[in-house]
Amino acid sequence: MRVFKFGGASVKNAAAVKNVAAILKRYPDEDLVMVLSAMGKTTNGLEKVVKSYFFNDGQAELHLNVIKEYHFALAEELFTEKKHPAYQALKELFANLANYISEPHGDDFDLEYDQIVSYGELLSTCIMHHYLTEAGISNRLFDARHLIKTDNNFREGSVDWNITPHLIQENVAPLFKKPGHPIALTQGFLGSSPEGLTTTLGREGSDFTAAILAYALDATEMVIWKDVPGLLNADPKYFDDPIKIDTISFREAIELSYYGATIIHPKTIKPLQNKHIALRIKSFIDPDADGTIIREDFADDSLIPSFIFKVDQMLISILVKDFSFIAEHNLEHIFGIFARFGLRIHMMQNSAISFSVCVDNDPIKIPKVMEELKKDYRLRYNEGVELVTIRHYDQETINRVLVAKKVFMEQRSRVTLQMVIKDKE
Ligand code: ASP
Ligand code: MG
Repeated sequence: MRVFKFGGASVKNAAAVKNVAAILKRYPDEDLVMVLSAMGKTTNGLEKVVKSYFFNDGQAELHLNVIKEYHFALAEELFTEKKHPAYQALKELFANLANYISEPHGDDFDLEYDQIVSYGELLSTCIMHHYLTEAGISNRLFDARHLIKTDNNFREGSVDWNITPHLIQENVAPLFKKPGHPIALTQGFLGSSPEGLTTTLGREGSDFTAAILAYALDATEMVIWKDVPGLLNADPKYFDDPIKIDTISFREAIELSYYGATIIHPKTIKPLQNKHIALRIKSFIDPDADGTIIREDFADDSLIPSFIFKVDQMLISILVKDFSFIAEHNLEHIFGIFARFGLRIHMMQNSAISFSVCVDNDPIKIPKVMEELKKDYRLRYNEGVELVTIRHYDQETINRVLVAKKVFMEQRSRVTLQMVIKDKE
């Protein structure tokens, strides 16, 4: 059995939806579970609806209409029959949502967020279910909220691992017993609280949903279909000609994501790693290509240098006022301040009289942290710096990154090099 996850970009318009159906047709004899995200940028659109609804700025309906028009325009390209049941189903979903935002809201923003933003996946799976049926791909739509139980930590629901695998096994596994059975289709990102309210698993949570299903159903492989050929050794936004990595271990993938590679979240990797389920990243544009395979151990793990760039960073040096040394009690105090304001330290280094950190240039948290630090320390800082991390670095890759750059801080281990850099004036 394979679990497929299709993200927002893979279903951003009617042609993309048709392409997904064509991909599924390549796997006629396979037990397939398909996890789907909201279409295109729908989640962002729904976030606007929630904000307007919660803060009563009078724009909620307007934002909702944009989403509604987008989905109906897309549906019209897929379902030419005016009386197609997909329209009725979509109308009902939008009526429910409109109804929800016409009522007064409660005082928990995160709870309201989940009740509203979850419609992105309900809408996408509704369209997909009807379109696949239309295209002759038999499929059954499962409501993910009946499969994935979480606590009531809205917007970041923690999965209840005691109940969830059983619910998935009881509800989904029987589908695959009969020959010629349908595909199991469900929403990514959604779960439900013990009280039965909709929860979400955090932004980009659909990958995690797919991993939970793969775990519970003992899948042989999970596939994330993307608009890139696989895992790349650098973000094409910051780097020309990135190379595709063919094979990589879970461990190395977790390392990369720790340093800021956004491609896969450690949360997604854990359930797969526990059951030795391989994770493949494949292109929905070029489904013949192999993509990247990530699994437990590769004797020859990727040694291709990987680059992770964090832009808009700030380098803060914290100096003791009296020229005494930076000692453990200072560090305890300094870390306490960063932890209190939730400012994550990406790189740090200390010398006798100073301690330096590289952090996101966060306009809200930085001033608070600085104000606190100033009470006991002198501060020096550099804005507009970048943090680059290179895994499996060599001199050639370092030279490439340092063209027209100045280095402010540097740290190397055997495999990882980190540098805080800035454009030369
Ligand atoms: N639709 C959700 C988001 O955009 C979940 C996902 O796509 O992974 O964050
Ligand atoms: Mg994603």
